[in-house]
Amino acid sequence: MTSTLEDLVTKALRREAPSRNEATRLLSEEFDVLDVVAAAGRVRRHFFGNRVKLNTIVNMKSGLCPEDCTYCAQRLGADSEILKYSWVKAEEAAGAADEAATAGAKRICLVASGRGPGQRDIDRISETIEAIRRKQPDVEVCACLGLLSEGQAEQLREAGADAYSHNLNTNERRYAEICSTHTFADRAETVRSATTAGLSPCSGAIFGMGESDDDVVSLAFELLELDPDSVPINFLIPMEGTPMAGEWRLTPQRCLRILALYRLFFPDVEVRLAGGREVHLRNVEALALHVANSIFLGDYLTSEGKTGEQDRQLIADAGFVVEGSEERTLPERRHDLVNIRRRGVGTDVAANV
Ligand code: SF4
Repeated sequence: MTSTLEDLVTKALRREAPSRNEATRLLSEEFDVLDVVAAAGRVRRHFFGNRVKLNTIVNMKSGLCPEDCTYCAQRLGADSEILKYSWVKAEEAAGAADEAATAGAKRICLVASGRGPGQRDIDRISETIEAIRRKQPDVEVCACLGLLSEGQAEQLREAGADAYSHNLNTNERRYAEICSTHTFADRAETVRSATTAGLSPCSGAIFGMGESDDDVVSLAFELLELDPDSVPINFLIPMEGTPMAGEWRLTPQRCLRILALYRLFFPDVEVRLAGGREVHLRNVEALALHVANSIFLGDYLTSEGKTGEQDRQLIADAGFVVEGSEERTLPERRHDLVNIRRRGVGTDVAANV
């Protein structure tokens, strides 16, 4: 491994991000891709050992979205042959969550299409969390419902949600190229409000949408400012019926370099290998597990994933183990750095004076 990569590992172990120049070089051909993966792998093993966290998506409401995100088959006017349905019932969602948790999923992601939830939707999600908890009291529940209005993050926290997920998807400079109905700032604000409400923030990216190396690096810095606990890395599946249909730009090596770069930016954070991994990483999917410490189990929002059996085999073959529900995902110290205030003004607990 070159001294530059050694230095980047040392920095990451100290939780220091690469410089813009170092990050850009990692995406170039200057370093062999296997050396880059090995460097990121050392950081991954330091903070997460050989554990792989499994997450499952329950798509609560599919399609029929008024927003126009160009990558999304659920967007306004998309001509994609995806499932379209309105809200599934709490008990049905809880049944799916129970099945996934029994199969090893530690986190259930309740996702709904749309610009953002109304009060009735928050109530629906609250009922669903309650139903899930009756069957699986220990499973983590993450809500992913779009842009949040004032007070909604607090309502979700009170309803028992552990986390909120809202991806930035692409960097601020080019956000308007991929969506015209909301802004980068809208998205960032929702992640901030979730964090302030005490929800664990989850925010990541989609690559393969024509971004330059500079864009990939800019987004890493922008995500860093939000200090997420979890960073999902999606690789675009260019669905028929969307403006991105036919945009097959990624190679497996490019995906590995991006993943490794994000691991070095987010050394002690859950880097989650998300949508598109099967189609873009193909025969090197196992290598990605040396960088990411978290994957989705089962199907995605609008496309099907591998079977649980195939993924469990992939994990075992690569020398990893499924993270147990009793194990911590993030290193203890990360939580020690910032304690969300739960005392003093605005609570029933005495102030820390
Ligand atoms: S990404 Fe979300 S907000 Fe954008 S079109 Fe798809 S469902 Fe709607």
